[in-house]
Amino acid sequence: MLLLNVPYEEKEEAKALGARWKPEYKKWSVFLGKDYYKFDKWIPKNSGDIILCDYIYIIVGKHECFKCHKQTSVVGLGVEKFMYITEDENGKRNYKYNKDDIHICPFIKELPKNIYDFAAEKYGLKYGYSNVVKGSYLANHCQNCGVIQGNFYLFDEVDSPFFLYEASDVKKLEIFKVKLPYDIICNAEISYLSSDYLIKQYGNIQELNL
Ligand SMILES: [Zn+2]
Repeated sequence: MLLLNVPYEEKEEAKALGARWKPEYKKWSVFLGKDYYKFDKWIPKNSGDIILCDYIYIIVGKHECFKCHKQTSVVGLGVEKFMYITEDENGKRNYKYNKDDIHICPFIKELPKNIYDFAAEKYGLKYGYSNVVKGSYLANHCQNCGVIQGNFYLFDEVDSPFFLYEASDVKKLEIFKVKLPYDIICNAEISYLSSDYLIKQYGNIQELNL
């Protein structure tokens, strides 16, 4: 389900196309992914070019904090169902659907509140100011000393808990499948590794209702 920005004077038009009113968000919405393109003009344009659909994974690993050297939990978000929005030479936007393996997503700009609150409280994934990036972003924080665990250190180094070589690496992870209250349009960095299939094959995936 995707929330739309429908101006009041266009509501009848949206409704005729099949949009439904969601009173809890005070927005019109569209339910079927295959219909999203029909509602393009009401889909927010500046939020990013990826739509994360239906659910995401909260993947929790253990990592040594670079500062205090204690073990801390760190979260990598996992995505499986998503759409890429691309624009052709005529400015027409196309929605391309992807679903294969679970891919780790080192960076997502924002999360729905229920998921953010869970990840922030339980695992220290929250907004924090980074001197390296010179801005605030959604980052892992050490549960012992509170310092930001930089994304490069966390996802790209060979000892990263998210660098998966074999089944035993996946079995060390806690993996939660979480339903999204609505699909998220965002800028996200999605990493494609040839070992990503291991996550679905060997992961202990638990459904989590937030
Ligand atoms: Zn620390």
